[in-house]
Amino acid sequence: MQSPLCEICLKNEDILCAGCQRKLTAGMITHTEVELSRILWKLQERYKSIQAGGFAYAKDVGKTLLVVVPKGSAGKMIGKGGAIISELESALHKKVKIVEEGTLEDVVKDIIGRSELIGINKVFGAEGERYRVRVRRAQLNKSEVEGIIRAVTGKKAEVVFE
Ligand SMILES: [Zn+2]
Repeated sequence: MQSPLCEICLKNEDILCAGCQRKLTAGMITHTEVELSRILWKLQERYKSIQAGGFAYAKDVGKTLLVVVPKGSAGKMIGKGGAIISELESALHKKVKIVEEGTLEDVVKDIIGRSELIGINKVFGAEGERYRVRVRRAQLNKSEVEGIIRAVTGKKAEVVFE
């Protein structure tokens, strides 16, 4: 199971080792990621698919916790009928969304669905480079999608409906 925490800290209920504590203090990992890692560690006994999954990092985007998972492991982390997501949501008391690591295009297709994407253009403005993500009119929350793209890829993107 991939996690930002080391294996010793995954198994520990309360304290962190010196290495992980240093990462937490430096802001390289967050309290939420520590909590999420330990919850997943316990869940993997019942949901074996988590063992081959895990996550790279997690970020709050609005009221949703975005869990960024290794490429190809979204299904393993969602669980049958969303069972793992339900467990995480009730343990963390917030909405959870699983997104795979990938290129900007991969991430956009993952969030909005392959058929909704018209194209992605790079644009240069006064504040540097950003991306214009052109999508068909869909039931989307523009700022949420932009927030997710930023959190997963680190790129500034503007979603436009056509
Ligand atoms: Zn550790």
